[in-house]
Amino acid sequence: MTIEKGSCHCGAVRWEFFLPIKTVVKCHCSNCRKLQGSDYSTWVVVPGEQYSITQGSEKITKYQANEKSSKNFCSNCGTAVFLSNGKHFPGNVVLALGALESYSEELSPKIQVYTSNKAEWVRLHDDEPVIS
Ligand SMILES: [Zn+2]
Ligand SMILES: [Zn+2]
Repeated sequence: MTIEKGSCHCGAVRWEFFLPIKTVVKCHCSNCRKLQGSDYSTWVVVPGEQYSITQGSEKITKYQANEKSSKNFCSNCGTAVFLSNGKHFPGNVVLALGALESYSEELSPKIQVYTSNKAEWVRLHDDEPVIS
């Protein structure tokens, strides 16, 4: 069983999950832009039962972004620990790729979504199917 790990910038919160994951999504929507502060976001989608917080759960603050989505972040440094997206990925946790410890092939982006909202300078990758 392969275990992947993640941690926030200050190191207070740590988490892990095991493979195989559901998918890795590169999202160009305006929601993700605001939540992550980046021109697009790459999210690792993991079945909830394969994920656990191994340290610092008491440091996590939950922000309810809308009716079905929330962002749980480290209260100390602001790093996204996990997000929930009940609309597109019920039963899964959504993890920011950039906060993980390793970048193995399994974690490479698989699909691109909301590409109609993408920033003008972002080039789509031909080998990642666009799901709109
Ligand atoms: Zn932190
Ligand atoms: Zn998005």
